Amino acid sequence: PVDVLTFGETMLAVQLPGSLAVGAQARTTVAGAESNVAIGLARLGHRAAWAGLVGDDEPGRLVLRTLRAEGVDITRAAVRATAPTGAMLREQRVADLVRVHYWRDGSAASLLTPADIEPALGDGARVLHLTGITGALGPGPLEAVGAAAAHAHAHGWTVALDVNHRQRLWTADEAGSALRPLLPYVTVLIASDDELPVVSDAFTESADAEERAVDALLEAGVREVVVKRGGEGAAFRDRRGARHAVAALRVPVRDTVGAGDAFCAGYLSGLLDGLPPAERLARANTLGAFAVASDGDWEGLPRRDELGLLAAAPGTAIR
Ligand code: ATP
Repeated sequence: PVDVLTFGETMLAVQLPGSLAVGAQARTTVAGAESNVAIGLARLGHRAAWAGLVGDDEPGRLVLRTLRAEGVDITRAAVRATAPTGAMLREQRVADLVRVHYWRDGSAASLLTPADIEPALGDGARVLHLTGITGALGPGPLEAVGAAAAHAHAHGWTVALDVNHRQRLWTADEAGSALRPLLPYVTVLIASDDELPVVSDAFTESADAEERAVDALLEAGVREVVVKRGGEGAAFRDRRGARHAVAALRVPVRDTVGAGDAFCAGYLSGLLDGLPPAERLARANTLGAFAVASDGDWEGLPRRDELGLLAAAPGTAIR
């Protein structure tokens, strides 16, 4: 069995330094929340498997080749000849504003069904990592997420769910109806502070809204809740009453996209290494900082011997 099994949609990503224009210099890469997590884990030396569907096309081959090159186990990934690989275009419209366009309706990944992930589930894993994005791709993917969570729970795996709410794909109400039934299977719930109301009853009027939302999640059966707070760091609470918080590392911000996925990879890495909660949170925070301080969603993520790199003084040249 692998350490972590995950699945979802990974797309061709075309990134432009400005607006889309004839002759623009594009940077091509692959993007997918779950595969970002798998890459982060593989770089830290964990055995991470990504089981998803791509089309029988150049973007699909790029996705599989890239994941394989990063050391992610793709033996349970599959090619669907009847649908294309999804794609996204990212325009750095002005200095601090990015505009993203997607072509993912009817993509190979949206055709995923529980049968597609059965073989991967049969292989076994210590941790199943799910995100709220996969369930938004369509009824088949949502069923696959539910079946995977139930299987993992029944077999005593750790189940991690990153809420990762995508307003473009579904409303908060739709996401809540789809994700709340999974809570009894979830061991570790990871969410941004603003995503908590999606999966927990929103007490938006009260000053302690977050506290009460986390209470409700722990009561629903989640063992630990990890809240991401962007540039303010992150927090942890568990059912035994433990609480931890960590301030974000001070790093130059290059590209914040992917910080949440990097954070998840760091947290799960700490879990696999048997670290106590505060140290898991610290590793998650470190990986989030690597993601914001480097270009690309996952390209700047550290190898294990690089975990301490951000402690170096700004401007350090390692010789
Ligand atoms: P995305 O969806 O863009 O991947 P997210 O909203 O899920 O991101 P954030 O809360 O923005 O996730 O960031 C995740 C974690 O990354 C934070 O909890 C923190 O540990 C780290 N992080 C984010 N922004 C910064 C920053 N400016 N400086 C240092 N660390 C950061």
